[in-house]
Order: sequence, then structure tokens, then C-alpha cells
Amino acid sequence: MAAMLQFEHVSTHYGAICAVNDVSLEVHPGEIVTLIGCNGAGKTSLLMTLCGTPRATSGRVLFEGEDITRLPTHLIMRKGIAISPEGRRVFPHLTVTENLMMGGFFLSKEGIRDGMEHVFGLFPRLRERAQQRSATMSGGEQQMLAIGRALMSKPRLLLMDEPTLGLAPLIIAQIFEIIQTIRAAGVTVFLVEQNANRALQIADRGYVLETGRVVLQDTGANLLRNDAVRAAYLGA
Ligand code: ATP
Repeated sequence: MAAMLQFEHVSTHYGAICAVNDVSLEVHPGEIVTLIGCNGAGKTSLLMTLCGTPRATSGRVLFEGEDITRLPTHLIMRKGIAISPEGRRVFPHLTVTENLMMGGFFLSKEGIRDGMEHVFGLFPRLRERAQQRSATMSGGEQQMLAIGRALMSKPRLLLMDEPTLGLAPLIIAQIFEIIQTIRAAGVTVFLVEQNANRALQIADRGYVLETGRVVLQDTGANLLRNDAVRAAYLGA
């Protein structure tokens, strides 16, 4: 099957710091692929390179066969890619509805209405809270909103940067269920997580990133059994 997303020998630098070092990876349509690694391994930099900020300093990023490495970010995001960013970054003074509209700012009125119904279908809690200001919502609800905002444009590829960071165990379990529901709805998911155990349980495949390099790649099930992964990331 042709890859939906391909990184071909991608490197990304911040000045002299190499955050992503010669990474090659693939995500196929319909997959959940996870990228795991410690703090500072370069996971966020890799996701953001895909979005065009920062730019790759070498190598190529391909989406559905098209080279998007040098495209402006706003054009990349219109290709059918959306991101729920690290730290959620909802607009605190806006209501749930207004936040969702921001996720669909380039859509027609019908597109926004459609997107909103789609998101409220996935997250009934957001419909109940439609007029609530997002600053007053719980961390879990804000995370649902960040994911919902990303889904407004009905992306084919959803990028998720640490969606469970700082959440209570019960909410974490809900978020991982939601990720599987999103995939079942036909969206391909590229998931960055520090919660390696849970991420590998739901992922078809995973990549392990250390100091900007991919050091291991395998199915989620095999990585869960891998001794090096168990020692470094699963507390075994
Ligand atoms: P975390 O899980 O803590 O978010 P990460 O795996 O996402 O970590 P990155 O945030 O991508 O890692 O950071 C990779 C490296 O790049 C780190 O050494 C970090 O200090 C550096 N870095 C990240 N952003 C910048 C920046 N804007 N300017 C300079 N260096 C940066």
C-alpha cells in the first residue's frame, strides 16, 4: 500500500542544535502510528517539521506522494492534515463553539456546521458545554476540545502531540478510546506520546526516537515485548 506520509532522511536544526537527525518513517492510510521517546528526544520537533515550522534542513516530507517539505504551513494544513498540539493550546477566553470555529476558519458555513456536528457526535460532552468558556473546563475536556478543533476540517491525517500529558488515569483511558474511535471513523493517526505503554497498545506500529534519531521501529505489539523498550520506556 502506498504510504500516506513519508519522511525521507529528514533533519531539522535549531541553529547548531540538531533536533531531528536523518529520520525516515512512513505512515500508511488507516494506521495508528506512534512515536515514543524521552523528554527532548525530538518528537515535537519532528511533528512540527511535518507542519513546516521549523523547516527541515535536509531530506523530504511527502504527503500522499506530494513533496510538502517547502510548502507554507497554512497550505500544508489544507492538504488534509490537522494537529492537536502539545499543551492543548485552546483559546481560553473563547467558548467551546468559538474554539471549534477557529479549527474550521477556512471552511464554508456549511463546512463549519458539518464539522461541528461531526465533533459533537464524537464528543457529546462538548455539545453539553458548547457555550462554556474553555478556560473553565477541566484538563480532559480541554484536551477533547483541542482534538475536536483539529477534527473540524475533517482531516485524513491527525497529528497528536502528547494528548494525555498531565491528565488523570481515568481521563487518559478515555482519550486512548477516543483515538481508536477517530481511527475507526477513517482518520489516520500519528501519535506522539510519553505514555509508551498505552500508546503501543493501540498502535499498529511504533518508532522509538532517541536524540533525534529513530533507533527502533516495529509493530506496537513487538515493541511492547522488546527488552530495550521495556527497560527504557515501560519501567520494566
Ligand atoms: P518533550 O517530550 O519534552 O516535549 P520532545 O521529544 O518533543 O520533548 P523537542 O521538544 O522536539 O523534544 O526537543 C528536541 C531538542 O530540540 C531539545 O534538545 C530541545 O531543547 C531543542 N529545541 C526544541 N525547540 C527548540 C527551539 N525553539 N529552539 C532551540 N532548541 C529547541
